[in-house]
Amino acid sequence: MEIRTIGVVGAGTMGNGIAQAFAVAGYPVVMTDVAQPALDRGLKTVDSSLERLVKKEKMTAADKATVLSRIRTGLDLGALAEADLIVEAATENLPLKLDIFARLDAAAKPGAIIASNTSSISITKLAAATKRPDRVIGMHFFNPVPVMALVELIRGLQTSEDTYAAVEAATKAVGKSPVQVKNSPGFVVNRLLCPMINEAVFALSEGLATPQQIDDAMRLGCNHPIGPLALCDLIGVDVQLAVMQVLFEGFKDSKYRPAPLLVEMVEAGYLGRKTGRGFYTY
Ligand code: NAD
Repeated sequence: MEIRTIGVVGAGTMGNGIAQAFAVAGYPVVMTDVAQPALDRGLKTVDSSLERLVKKEKMTAADKATVLSRIRTGLDLGALAEADLIVEAATENLPLKLDIFARLDAAAKPGAIIASNTSSISITKLAAATKRPDRVIGMHFFNPVPVMALVELIRGLQTSEDTYAAVEAATKAVGKSPVQVKNSPGFVVNRLLCPMINEAVFALSEGLATPQQIDDAMRLGCNHPIGPLALCDLIGVDVQLAVMQVLFEGFKDSKYRPAPLLVEMVEAGYLGRKTGRGFYTY
């Protein structure tokens, strides 16, 4: 099956980036959300992101207008009736996503593929909420979507070869690099990255070194572009904790236990850049 039209559910951080990536690659996109202000913010973010490309002379003003004209918006999942591929990027919440998947199944045309950008929810479980489990897949984009190359493509237990092949082709068509991953807590990137950050928090609380020293060590010793604690502040301390909880719950293995300091920082509201304070002050 060839994918020609795209639907996106959720116009937030990830949703508007996904809409932009497909629109830049020439696909008509319909982006939905539950509230008009969210759609307005999403479109504004795309506009500013494209404007930066125009300023850097990587895109002409005319091309920017064409890209923007490819993105339509709607407040109802019914607006996605024509989409061949729908990427769900709504808030990370299991009951919410199960409800969206059941309703998307009813709204989408027969044969349409429904993908989720979830970071932690089982694709198999989301697929089971629909009557087309073979046409459900995980498409895990990375933030910021327009610049990050990777998309983890997650096969649920029920995902068909056909679905995988069509989504892999669409991923490449938007200039991204797909990596095939089994449905498993944290997939690949978060499974490896978040325990490393968690260990940095343990090291900090044990007094091994200061945040700056820990980050410098990993930058200079491992060539990481950013240290683990600065990265945690960027991701959000609460998001990091949520991923560790998913890994801990999913594997029931103590090696994934969240560092107590991580829990305490979330209790204190020190969530990183978004609250002005995390391991560093902003
Ligand atoms: P966000 O909070 O920025 O955006 C979520 C959007 O979903 C909001 O605009 C909200 O109004 C909308 N929404 C809520 N309920 C909805 C519904 N019923 N129908 C339509 N829209 C609805 O969140 P985000 O950071 O963009 O995350 C979206 C998804 O992407 C999550 O599953 C998250 O785990 C995943 N993800 C996030 C990142 C990241 O770095 N932020 C990276 C990879 C994956």
